[in-house]
Amino acid sequence: MQYYSTNHQAPIASLHKAVVKGLAEDRGLYMPEHITPLPQEFFQSIDNKSFQEIAFTVAEAFFGEDVKRDDLQTIVYDTLQFDCPVKKVEDDIYSLELFHGPTLAFKDVGARFMARLLQYFIRQEGRHDQVNVLVATSGDTGSAVANGFLGVEGIHVYVLYPKGKVSPIQECQFTTLGKNITAIEVEGTFDDCQALVKSAFMDKELNEQLLLTSANSINVARFLPQAFYYFNAYARMKEMGKADELVVCVPSGNFGNITAALFGHAMGLPIKRFIAANNANDIFYQYLQTGVYNPQPSKATIANAMDVGDPSNFARIIDLYGGEHSRICSLISGATFTDEVIRKTMKSCYSENGYVLDPHGACGYQALKQLLREGETGVFCETAHPAKFKDTVEGAIDAEITIPEKLAAFMKGEKKSEPMSKEFADFKTFLLKQK
Ligand SMILES: *Cc1c(COP(=O)(O)O)cnc(C)c1O
Repeated sequence: MQYYSTNHQAPIASLHKAVVKGLAEDRGLYMPEHITPLPQEFFQSIDNKSFQEIAFTVAEAFFGEDVKRDDLQTIVYDTLQFDCPVKKVEDDIYSLELFHGPTLAFKDVGARFMARLLQYFIRQEGRHDQVNVLVATSGDTGSAVANGFLGVEGIHVYVLYPKGKVSPIQECQFTTLGKNITAIEVEGTFDDCQALVKSAFMDKELNEQLLLTSANSINVARFLPQAFYYFNAYARMKEMGKADELVVCVPSGNFGNITAALFGHAMGLPIKRFIAANNANDIFYQYLQTGVYNPQPSKATIANAMDVGDPSNFARIIDLYGGEHSRICSLISGATFTDEVIRKTMKSCYSENGYVLDPHGACGYQALKQLLREGETGVFCETAHPAKFKDTVEGAIDAEITIPEKLAAFMKGEKKSEPMSKEFADFKTFLLKQK
């Protein structure tokens, strides 16, 4: 399969190149040239299949031309060593729990899949030098990427994070791992971390000495595998006899997760319509109302993984529907919620249903409460385990929540990180010494 850029000014790329480069030369996002529809029979019997079996069929449609069948199967099964259950929250509203992976958030699947796919290509090339992945994080991406790449031979990951600006729960998920993961604590802000990574990619000498790549969330190997979730959601709903008139609601920030769902829809997945739930960062919501895309500086909210003022995957959504506002509006609705509404939603859902929402999932649930129509069944994504946002959630629901074993284990680990100034010269010297 070939990949083109949403800006249409860069050469067509192989999957291998699209994965290694992440972003196209013209700064556009890679899109697969074809979307392979899956046969009717697949959907008819999908409820008899496991998450892993379903995902493998979907993965073959995406990557089957570029990855040997057995290897692809290994990659899929290695990535999905946990479930993605659907739970009933109340009549007609179900939660698709995407937080049963190693760092308890949905980004785990894309990160692990990308790590294994990158490793597959490195081995195929017979490379012996190490690939270095640089990632700047304000919290969640760093933990998903670090854990996805943990122990993957031939790849070393450097996670750059701003000192004192990442919550202790998030920090321990990438500073306690050791092995091929190095955490770098930067004396500066998240923007400084990003600037260091960008400078490294542009530095000629560094790129001659070291093989550098990013694990950005726009990478095709990170975002496409998220489609697995939606095929599985349909299967589990069909099992319960609830799959007709299905509405899927995705709490969205950079819009990667919902874009993967839209790819599923384009492959024939019978979902009636979608809702993109936003926090106060309502750029997509405004686009749906007005037809104008007007990016804004991001606003800090309690659903902070969705604090995005210029969602990168918007370009992919525009590309999927030929830029037609009316087509986009007929398939996707929007919703936007203030922190106050998010808090009230966590509280009411807990007291009425006994279900604990995290601040991101709360946006999804609330959007269904408001927008679900007669006869429809709604499924919203619970994108992170509520314990990842313990203080916010406990404050809202006025009850204590228990920390899952996986998270507690990270918190017991020994924190190790390299102190770093925000000067590129220091970072460069450090990287060159790692060779
Ligand atoms: C990343 C993230 C989101 C937003 O997902 P996008 O793919 O960027 O739209 C929502 N919730 C949580 C918990 C996340 O970590």
